[in-house]
Amino acid sequence: MKKRIAITAAAAFFAAAALLYLYLTGEGEGAGIPCPVYQLTGLFCSGCGASRALRSVLHLDFYQALRYNAVFTLALPFMAAYFGALAISFVRFGKDEISKKIPMWPIWLFIGAAIIYGVLRNFPLFAFLAPTTL
Ligand SMILES: [Zn+2]
Repeated sequence: MKKRIAITAAAAFFAAAALLYLYLTGEGEGAGIPCPVYQLTGLFCSGCGASRALRSVLHLDFYQALRYNAVFTLALPFMAAYFGALAISFVRFGKDEISKKIPMWPIWLFIGAAIIYGVLRNFPLFAFLAPTTL
């Protein structure tokens, strides 16, 4: 049990450190993760703008976060709840007791929506879905 608590605390520490680093760095200071899809093709993928969106959420600027990446921003509370529950499950039971209790259809629905989002944001009609530059 103590070992699992130490592992979880270490993971939480590194996650918090990464979030703090992202919080403290400004726009364009290199904390963002360059997108290989965008760099190779010039097209936006579903994840483009996600690190900027996370930085905006950390600064409590939810509107800008949605403009950078709406799908990622809307998924954040669910991801945070999932990883939080996963950490608790790991500490208590030493294994993942959460994933098997989650039905797959919402996950597949989210993946489908994210793929459609990634395609649509490259068309001029849906340019409002593309990541903004402030
Ligand atoms: Zn991308």
